[in-house]
Amino acid sequence: MTQSLPGQRPAHERAFAGRAGLPVVVVGAGPYGLSVAAHLRAAGAQVRIFGEVMGSWRHAMATGMFLKSTPDATDLSAPGPGGRLADFRRAHGEPELTELTPIPCDVFVRYGMWFQKRYVGDVEPNRVVAVDRAPTGRGFLVRLDYGQELPAAAVVVATGLNGLAHIPAVLRRLAPEGPGAGALVSHTSHHTDLSAYAGRRVAVIGGGQSALESAALLHEAGAAVQVLVREPRVLWGAKPDPARPWAQRVARPASPLGPGWILAAVCKAPHAVRWCPAAARMLLFRRALGPSGGWWLRDRVDGVVPVRTATRVTRAGAEAATGVRLDIAGPSGPETLTVDHVLAATGYRLDVEAVPFLSGAVRDALACVPGSKAPRLSASLESSVPGLYFTGSLAAPMLGPMMRFVAGTEFTAERITRHASRLLVRR
Ligand SMILES: Cc1cc2nc3c(=O)[nH]c(=O)nc-3n(C[C@H](O)[C@H](O)[C@H](O)COP(=O)(O)OP(=O)(O)OC[C@H]3O[C@@H](n4cnc5c(N)ncnc54)[C@H](O)[C@@H]3O)c2cc1C
Repeated sequence: MTQSLPGQRPAHERAFAGRAGLPVVVVGAGPYGLSVAAHLRAAGAQVRIFGEVMGSWRHAMATGMFLKSTPDATDLSAPGPGGRLADFRRAHGEPELTELTPIPCDVFVRYGMWFQKRYVGDVEPNRVVAVDRAPTGRGFLVRLDYGQELPAAAVVVATGLNGLAHIPAVLRRLAPEGPGAGALVSHTSHHTDLSAYAGRRVAVIGGGQSALESAALLHEAGAAVQVLVREPRVLWGAKPDPARPWAQRVARPASPLGPGWILAAVCKAPHAVRWCPAAARMLLFRRALGPSGGWWLRDRVDGVVPVRTATRVTRAGAEAATGVRLDIAGPSGPETLTVDHVLAATGYRLDVEAVPFLSGAVRDALACVPGSKAPRLSASLESSVPGLYFTGSLAAPMLGPMMRFVAGTEFTAERITRHASRLLVRR
């Protein structure tokens, strides 16, 4: 964060001094918040952005993890040229990453921090604890963790999956949850260091990248791991072939989310996804990218870590002497497993009610996508509360699966900036 000299007004106030109007508040400083703030600032809007720069990538991912997306699908959106991951690597004399080189999380964190310095400037590390409608009826009142309240013309929610981690009810009874040494169940997002489980028996629940990569890291750290997967088999991504023949490129065109016509279409025109019937959108959301492991992870799991497919946990109970007893149902009938810890790689619930800082009045005014608790959004990512925007995964049920990934930052930042600029002129 840019520092102010003692006695000097913070840089954001200096920059905005003399410009009329209230700021746009961006809540969150991950890929989406940084991209939106960069575009808004370049467009001349007053912006205050809150959160820890790349916070989730520092605190909600285990050390040693890699990104599943390829380098060209991992660019934050800058308002001009020069802000791509490749530019960052070049600027630091680091070799170019290709689609055959998985990106370590720490490279992505350094890229985000470089991007922030170059395109965003001040980011205030405070947490937003409340967003309510302004008493005047126009704009919002935003409260920070140290009690300060500030008025805002518009608010952009860019808090990613924070607060949305999902642990199935059958495992929740093992609570208290969390990463503490004594906890019997935790979610993958609770961990930065899985080596704490060395020498312990861990059941990983889930069949996606998070489950499979956590299992690999646990195994490599010396834990006795087994993975329980509900699906009949584990799916692995195909190794990219940079020399794909022309006919294959036409049959399955490339997209930031992988090859295939459907993925290419939803990435090209996320705004068009809104016009699909709600049921089709939800199907797209759930099915377009089902759980699978990255191609580069396969050798670390397949035949290395025991994986039980078509297996569900039917009951979980704590046993004082032995640990956790899991009753499971699989292809060979009911069985019992005893482990020391259960790691739930069971995804996230897209639920606006779980966004902790939205006031009751704001939540009540939010229209949701039928059949879900995700906000209904316009093609500019504005919710039914004028001036309140949602980005990232919470936008995916309306605007398609690209919003779950960094690849959606460009569409998001451009759309919100265009819309918010018009809104600010009107206010
Ligand atoms: C294990 C895992 C692996 C993933 N791998 C990939 C991948 O390879 N490629 C890809 O494209 N996507 C991947 N994703 C999805 C990824 O989360 C998103 O693409 C990306 O991080 C979304 O960015 P974001 O800005 O929406 O949220 P985040 O990156 O989660 O950033 C959230 C920000 O909000 C801040 N914040 C939270 N609450 C508050 C508050 N109350 N006040 C202020 N600030 C707050 C945090 O400090 C942080 O700055 C992965 C997700 C997970 C869980």
